[in-house]
Amino acid sequence: MRPIHVVGGGLAGSEAAWQIAQSGVPVILHEMRPTRGTDAHKGEGLAELVCSNSFRSDDSETNAVGLLHAEMRLAGSLIMAAGDKHQLPAGSALAVDRDGFSDEVTARLEAHPLVTIEREEVSGLPPEEWGSTIIATGPLTAPDLAHAIQAETGADSLAFFDAIAPIVHFDSIDMNICWFQSRYDKVGPGGTGKDYINCPLDKQQYEAFVSALIEGEKTGFKKWEGTPYFDGCLPIEVMAERGVETLRHGPMKPMGLTNAHNPTVKAYAVVQLRQDNALGSLFNMVGFQTKLKHGEQVRIFRMIPGLENAEFARLGGLHRNTYLNSPELLDGTLRLKSRPDLRFAGQITGCEGYVESASIGLLAGRFAAAEAKGEMLPLPPITTAFGALLGHITGGHIVSDDEPGKRSFQPMNVNFGLFPTVEVPRAEGKRLRGKEKTIAKKRALTARALVDCRKWLGHAEA
Ligand code: FAD
Repeated sequence: MRPIHVVGGGLAGSEAAWQIAQSGVPVILHEMRPTRGTDAHKGEGLAELVCSNSFRSDDSETNAVGLLHAEMRLAGSLIMAAGDKHQLPAGSALAVDRDGFSDEVTARLEAHPLVTIEREEVSGLPPEEWGSTIIATGPLTAPDLAHAIQAETGADSLAFFDAIAPIVHFDSIDMNICWFQSRYDKVGPGGTGKDYINCPLDKQQYEAFVSALIEGEKTGFKKWEGTPYFDGCLPIEVMAERGVETLRHGPMKPMGLTNAHNPTVKAYAVVQLRQDNALGSLFNMVGFQTKLKHGEQVRIFRMIPGLENAEFARLGGLHRNTYLNSPELLDGTLRLKSRPDLRFAGQITGCEGYVESASIGLLAGRFAAAEAKGEMLPLPPITTAFGALLGHITGGHIVSDDEPGKRSFQPMNVNFGLFPTVEVPRAEGKRLRGKEKTIAKKRALTARALVDCRKWLGHAEA
């Protein structure tokens, strides 16, 4: 059988290669290190963890990334097997010995009879003669390949920095304070004139908020990242530093908005949130990309009226990151629409994090292997962590209605906001409230996910 090529031996590429080989299809894995390095990798092992040594929570009952761990274990993940073997004590998180982990992944792939590892840079788009190929070159994809991808997909289709605004769970927003309205009630394509959630601030609240932004603790850029500020994408705190009125004339302008709860009092400033997923469970804070530290973001953004109890599905950031506008470019099984012989996997597809990257490698590997064997692999159900994350990457993303064509796809960790809602079970016939309700909902989501994941994988016990 013809081998499948995988470019990039990081978290995603190693997992993809493993899944392909385990399904009986030969695979050639191309990794450029040690011939050529990146700004973050230090060694030559496969699946190197470039920063923290944590796979985050391992709680598969009430945590979305813990659920993803569980689904990956069910699917025979190499990354999870190596992580489990080299686990370090870290409470409910899965932390790993980074060298032991990377050595384990490298050794198991080197020992697999169907895996060939080529230590070389792939410096252009893989040729069609290679046949089925997965590109998993990550956030620090080498420049020649990145530019070749850009030439194939279009200049605006590959980003080199992300500019992430925080995302809030809809059900944690106080709609007794906030209201739905588009500015000037404007109805864009597919819009209703009520497409934004608006949070009103009075003068005192606004000035206290601006001071908190300026004083809040920030993270710096790494030396090699440069300073990627460009017009229209300044961090919110940098705008605040330019003058107390700047935000009121920018992302916090109150014009064209009438407080539905208090129509006679004009808000001094307004924070707008825009729907972020087709399910309507997540809303992003418009224009709030930031380098504030995560803890500071939670503290400061909860000063906004209506967001006092906000739960964040994702916090803001700005990083060096190479990633595709995947919802436009990729089909449901991660193939490039313009070159279906090429699939993408890992962080370059617009997921975020070690585990998420590996899980998208797992799916890409399974899709490619099934195709090579002439088999039809259905998509993982949207009720599973696999399906929810894949859904974020390949479709269902909301495009701004008042700025048609403006790209709004940003990288995302797996989180419960990506899952279709589930009925919360009652306790002894009574409706649950508050924290108990949140936990019961998470348990119901994860239980449903694991049943559906087992069915998708064809496990007998489903
Ligand atoms: P990678 O793991 O980066 O793998 C890509 C591989 O492709 C690399 O081995 C690279 O050498 C190789 N490659 C690149 N170009 C070519 C080419 N042309 N030819 C051949 N090989 C090539 N996530 C977390 O969960 N926790 C963190 O603490 C964390 N910290 C991060 C810190 C930094 C500085 C960065 C950039 C990212 C961080 N991430 C973190 C995000 C991300 O999840 C990881 O980068 C993750 O490793 C992505 O997996 P991947 O397989 O997509 O890419």
